[in-house]
Amino acid sequence: MTLWRFLRAFSQKMTKPQVVFVLGAPGAGKGTQCANIVQDFNFVHLSAGDLLREERNRPGSEFGEMIENCIAQGTIVPVEVTCSLLERAMQESGKSKFLIDGFPRNEDNLTGWERQMHDKADVRLVLSFDCSEEVCTRRCLDRGAAGSGRIDDNAESLKKRFDTFYNSTMPIIQHYEKLNLLRKIDGDKAPDEVFQEVKTILMKESLC
Ligand code: UDP
Ligand code: MG
Repeated sequence: MTLWRFLRAFSQKMTKPQVVFVLGAPGAGKGTQCANIVQDFNFVHLSAGDLLREERNRPGSEFGEMIENCIAQGTIVPVEVTCSLLERAMQESGKSKFLIDGFPRNEDNLTGWERQMHDKADVRLVLSFDCSEEVCTRRCLDRGAAGSGRIDDNAESLKKRFDTFYNSTMPIIQHYEKLNLLRKIDGDKAPDEVFQEVKTILMKESLC
């Protein structure tokens, strides 16, 4: 092997997976915009909520009931469970650029991620979709009425999900703002307009 090939192989091995966290209130548009990004760019979309719903539905899962309760109550699953699901999905994808949607949602998620992943992945950016509670609530209730099948797309669960967002997730968003990793996006607008903003940000950061 030439020195050049050796160095290239070495640097590829040493390049950690690149992560973009995607945060925002329930219904702020995280899932929609992640799907748009995946369509145009080489990212893998991992929704923490979807991974938890999958684990909940897995026959024999020891966490199924606990996850079900957390989702219905709008509270947050212990990070050991969520982070392990994320890490496994990252490994199984065999890819290196990830959009992690709906995580980290609280202090426990943040410290757990740092403990488990800080030398295994680089958090490059945090996208935060800003959207009024009124618009978000309407979107989730419409999504529920249209048959999302989600047990938490109802007025009662939504109220709790918003409380969790304001009390637990906002401090995480502020944490990333201090680290200058946060990019805020106006999520009240139509999906296409929001996506233009998303693209501009990713391009500026050389992520796409
Ligand atoms: N959830 C969690 N930890 C996570 C992500 C989600 O505990 O890291 C739970 C939490 O109860 C949340 C629910 O899953 O209210 C639904 O999350 P999802 O991201 O699907 O909701 P969204 O924000 O997209 O509406
Ligand atoms: Mg979602």
